[in-house]
Amino acid sequence: MRMAMIWLIGTAAWVLSASSSLALDKTPAPAGTAAPPHWSYSGEHGPAHWGDVAADGAVCAIGKSQSPINLAAGAATTGKAGNFKINYAPGAVALLNNGHTIQADVSDATNTVTFDGTSYTLAQFHFHAPSEHTVDGKQFPMEIHFVNKDANGHIVVVGVFVQAGAENKLLAPMFSALPATATPAGTHAGSPLKVDIPAVLPKDRKAFVYAGSLTTPPCTEGVHWIVLAQPIEMSNAQIDAFKSIIHDNHRPLQKINGRDVVSETE
Ligand SMILES: [Zn+2]
Repeated sequence: MRMAMIWLIGTAAWVLSASSSLALDKTPAPAGTAAPPHWSYSGEHGPAHWGDVAADGAVCAIGKSQSPINLAAGAATTGKAGNFKINYAPGAVALLNNGHTIQADVSDATNTVTFDGTSYTLAQFHFHAPSEHTVDGKQFPMEIHFVNKDANGHIVVVGVFVQAGAENKLLAPMFSALPATATPAGTHAGSPLKVDIPAVLPKDRKAFVYAGSLTTPPCTEGVHWIVLAQPIEMSNAQIDAFKSIIHDNHRPLQKINGRDVVSETE
């Protein structure tokens, strides 16, 4: 019941903001509405200092199961780290720019990932350029994170690599409407857009599965990572459209500390 109330309030806020926020990204945020940047990707608030500068960020510095990591194809054991199934459907997304990334919020609760028998609902997906995870040392131009949460707030992230190639028509409506400036907290830019979310994912569902963390402060651990091995394509123009707004938002590679990386398929 409480979850339902929160969902209803969230949906109402989205509808309200969608009807009144077409010009939001051109309107200066009233003073005090946008959270100040406590952390960044370079300089004195950069990744090496997240443990000190970010609220509740100590685990960023002292955690032993941090993300991202290099995924060594040859070293991955085959087997089952956790049975997973991705059950996404086409639906509406609402965009925001939080100063660290551009994010597509998903309000349709029918988008889920099941992992070890637990259902996780897709909350949002967002972008990093260049990629955060690497495969055998190879970094991709972009990486998309699909963030899924269960009823207790536990998180499964599905990672999708992006390589340069053909224009991605599925993401074209989003990438021609990327909010160029930070959207005030709690609001979205523009109208909701329809996206065929399952079609955005690669067809081959072979994945690297491992236990890691959020790649942004507070770097919370206990995150189940499902990083799909097959990259998708976006054009250089699309990749550059993102990079012209968000400059290098990847966290450096973290120590594996003996963790298992399992190669498995859906
Ligand atoms: Zn991310």
